[in-house]
Formats: sequence, C-alpha cells, structure tokens
Amino acid sequence: MKPLTEADIRGALVNAPPHEADRMPMPGLHEVVWADREYLGWRDPGSPQRGYLVAWREGNPVCIVLRASGTRLQAGSAICSLCNTPQPANQVTMFSAVRAGEAGKRGDSVGTYICADLACSLLIRIAPPQFEMQPSPDEVVASRAARLEARLQAFTERVLQAA
Ligand SMILES: [Zn+2]
Repeated sequence: MKPLTEADIRGALVNAPPHEADRMPMPGLHEVVWADREYLGWRDPGSPQRGYLVAWREGNPVCIVLRASGTRLQAGSAICSLCNTPQPANQVTMFSAVRAGEAGKRGDSVGTYICADLACSLLIRIAPPQFEMQPSPDEVVASRAARLEARLQAFTERVLQAA
C-alpha cells in the first residue's frame, strides 16, 4: 500500500466523531514496511476493545474504528473474513464497525471476523500453502494479497455505504 502519515490517518477516520480522531493512538509508522501491507491495522493498548484499520480507497485513505466483541469463539479453528487464513479460534475476533454517516448515527454497524491482531498482511506472507502443487511462494503471496485487497474493499464499501 502507499505510505500514510499520522495526519493522513487522523484525517481519514470515517465512522467516529472528529474528537476521536485526535485521540487515536498511533502505531509506530516508521517501522511499517508499506510495500508488504494491504492495510494498516492496530489495537488500542489503552482500550483493548478498540482497533483501527486504514486502507486506501480510490486514492484516499479510509480509517475505520472497530470494536472487538467480548464474546470468544469456541475452541477449534476459525477463518478471518479478510485474509481467509484458517487459525486457532482465539486468534480471530468478531469486530463491529459503526457505519459512516447517517446510518451510523442510527446505530447501524457492520460485523465481521478479522484476525485479532489486525495483522492479515503479515499472516498471508508467512502462512504455509494449504495444498501441494502450489506455484512459487511469491505467486502464493501475490494471489493472497489480491484476494485480501478485494475483501478489504468490500468491507470498506459496506462501512461507507450511504443508506
Ligand atoms: Zn486476517
């Protein structure tokens, strides 16, 4: 993804009031390898239910605040709806995002299962292929990245959708 500055991120919050943008905790942006990211995601260390996800959409950054559900998944495995990587259930969390605009003011939200640490981009680059006869590792990562981006765009659209 294209790099983001702190100001980009604070100015891109779409589903919370402006004062929340000012107090968003920032991750260490200087440590981010942007070329290896489809989106930037982080949890709020001071408010563990909160998470943030920033992606580019049509040339503009979109930052979405997420709230983790307190409900734990059952034991077993689970699949993140963005990167589709199967994982132990406790590493995938139900997050909800209040929708942007009037829909959000009415209390509408979008819920989805996402990697608990919001680090899909790292995971798709380290998870072993699930089947034999895969193309090269680079091709595996490229095709996972393309699918992650498509699902991310669909999720972002749902949050932004005017209704
Ligand atoms: Zn994921």
